[in-house]
Amino acid sequence: MSDKCITKVLIVGGGTAGWMTAAALSETLKGLALDIRLVESEAIGTVGVGESTIPHIRHFNTRLGINEADFLSRTQATFKLGIEFRDWGRLGDSYIHPFGAYGADPAAHEVELFHHLWTRAGAPESLEAWSLPVAMARRERFTHPSTDPASPLSGFSYAYQFDASLYAAYLRRYSEARGVVRTEGRIADVALHGETGFVTHVTLESGERIDADLVIDCSGFRGLVIEQAMKTGYHDWTRWLPCDRAVALPCEHGGLFPPATRATALKAGWAWRIPLQHRVGNGHVYCSAFLDDDAAETALMDQLEGAALAPPNRLRFLTGKRKLQWNRNCVAIGLASGFLEPLESTSIHLIQAAIGYLLDLFPTGDWDPSDAAEFNQTMDMEYERIRDFLVLHYHATTRDDSEFWNHCRTMTIPDSLAWKMELFRERGVVAAYEHGVFLHPSWVAVYVGQHVTPRRWDPRLDDLDPAAVRADLEGQRRRIAGLAERQPRHADVLGAARAAV
Ligand code: FAD
Repeated sequence: MSDKCITKVLIVGGGTAGWMTAAALSETLKGLALDIRLVESEAIGTVGVGESTIPHIRHFNTRLGINEADFLSRTQATFKLGIEFRDWGRLGDSYIHPFGAYGADPAAHEVELFHHLWTRAGAPESLEAWSLPVAMARRERFTHPSTDPASPLSGFSYAYQFDASLYAAYLRRYSEARGVVRTEGRIADVALHGETGFVTHVTLESGERIDADLVIDCSGFRGLVIEQAMKTGYHDWTRWLPCDRAVALPCEHGGLFPPATRATALKAGWAWRIPLQHRVGNGHVYCSAFLDDDAAETALMDQLEGAALAPPNRLRFLTGKRKLQWNRNCVAIGLASGFLEPLESTSIHLIQAAIGYLLDLFPTGDWDPSDAAEFNQTMDMEYERIRDFLVLHYHATTRDDSEFWNHCRTMTIPDSLAWKMELFRERGVVAAYEHGVFLHPSWVAVYVGQHVTPRRWDPRLDDLDPAAVRADLEGQRRRIAGLAERQPRHADVLGAARAAV
């Protein structure tokens, strides 16, 4: 065990990444008596988007001991059972990528065989008819999953959609109560040690100097420390994920509470719709090589289902990741570390993953290089697997109604995705060790939802009578629909949570 200790931790930035990091470190490492400072600048502000999540966020909140009802009411959050994709595989399509396995019997040991059964039965109707989360989302119903594995309500998960600025404020209160010291101000200079290149301190515009043993760069796209000071470099992935701009805008609620995010493919990108309790978040992600900013804004306005509540917020980004996310004594978390674009809502998950690995490998003053190497390798893997999943959405399309979709349909994809797609197309198999954060049913949902259909079913099903399989599936479909119908309305569950606080 090292006797050299890290004591001064400086978090640069107070967006979602900064405050999630502050909250997790102050709670989990309270035994280390760290001096945790967070510097943020109201004048610079935060990116102001990032409202849809995947189920892992619940583990983050639970680990912090956050009460769900309190969290829901303070962040105006709604529940999320999946993402509805409109017009992706072809115009007129709609499928939901659900957070949960297919089939009415979640205790079945072979949930991985379900889509083979469906193929064996001749794909009688859309696969999503056998998903309980989809059945609930389509009916605006929600219930918490059962913890009893034998219950028909146990085979799914859920996430949240929340107001990002309220979540950051919530975590700020949490962190400050645990000793994190926040400093308002703009960092004007980052000082590096002449020999080691380690950050020694930062200087604010006010002249205040803050020393640091470990710096966590949560400064957003600018990467104030990891890039501007350390020149770490960036892997540009726009050849696979070509969207590079977004325009975002909140609007009034139309009274609809689907527990799902919507992603509608447009001519040169896609539009999101995220229903919160107090408003709806909307945005248009697009590729500037195929669409100009004014046309993108007009296309977003056409999607709104309520009156706009703020002026449009225009954003630019470059899909990809830093060459190193942990460089010397700086760890980049959040947008400072990279960005894969908002499709499938993975950015907050990547923040959470980075925090988890940092906690596992929390450095001592010895700065063993293998800690940084392990962190970087693991984060590379997380990024690459998510990248492949996102590229799949763009590439698996038959759309030929715009230059953008012609480009996506015919572009060269990463080899790692090409063989995953071939494996599925040939045998209906989801690459087991390669799925990453998105599990088997997620890949199946997107493959099948975007018409990548297997040529063969699993040979274990050869002996089954297709008519008997069809009858069995029909029974399951009815059970799922009936079960969804009996669940409470999503709006009522949110109302009950508000009343409980
Ligand atoms: P920011 O929010 O940009 O925060 C940066 C912080 O650094 C600010 O506090 C700023 O004041 C501070 N700072 C910067 N420079 C200085 C300085 N010199 N001195 C002092 N302080 C400084 N993620 C999801 O998971 N789901 C989504 O649905 C989703 N949608 C998105 C849509 C779009 C269009 C974009 C661009 C991103 C989306 N994301 C989404 C990503 C998500 O927004 C981010 O992961 C999340 O908000 C974290 O941002 P951040 O904290 O890294 O950066």
